[in-house]
Amino acid sequence: MKSELNKVFSDFIAIFFPRECGCCGCVLKYQEKFVCTACDFHLPYTNFHEYSDNDTARQLWGKAPVEEACSFLLLQKDSRVERLIYQIKYNNQPFLAEYFGYLYGLKLIKIKAYQDINCIVPVPLHRSKFRKRGYNQSTYFGRGLSRAMGIPLREDILVRKKATMSQTGKGRIDRYDNVSDIFDYKGTMLPANVHILVVDDVLTTGATVVSAALTLLDAVDCRVSVATLARA
Ligand SMILES: [Zn+2]
Repeated sequence: MKSELNKVFSDFIAIFFPRECGCCGCVLKYQEKFVCTACDFHLPYTNFHEYSDNDTARQLWGKAPVEEACSFLLLQKDSRVERLIYQIKYNNQPFLAEYFGYLYGLKLIKIKAYQDINCIVPVPLHRSKFRKRGYNQSTYFGRGLSRAMGIPLREDILVRKKATMSQTGKGRIDRYDNVSDIFDYKGTMLPANVHILVVDDVLTTGATVVSAALTLLDAVDCRVSVATLARA
């Protein structure tokens, strides 16, 4: 009876404040959380976490010695995932990143290679960008992973010292130059051989996560793995 009442109340609220699917913008039904059933079904899940030799890992080969690397979704032009990333980054809906982080965490925790991770480190934003956006979408993604995997999220390990220019329109080589040496290790004490999962929203060239991984590997006795919400 109570759940029936909740449903009636939610439907009533939805007439005035309709909730939209984060991927296609359609009005969500009562039982749909953040994404409609059709999008959930059609989203291009990569399943990269199921095998080490995947496209995200290959993208980082020879650039940083990471243990494992994976991306949850494939980002294509004019797609559901592109809209999702836009909502997360530019339309003040970072909770969508947390939602997908949680879903991904439920998958990662079942994979042996990800079970000995000790902490999750989101790629930090420069403080100027953080001020402008008001949140770090990678932190939200990491928060979802953290909840699902029962592994602490650590924002006290890396800091972004350079506000890089927008990468739009720059060549692959330029982008690498642009993001080299952009992070600093905060000096946090960590146990030896700690396994750190660096997380970011989108992997394009991989230069950002490579820079973050190299900073950690240089400063701490650690192993680094990488997980991103999407891969371009
Ligand atoms: Zn949808």
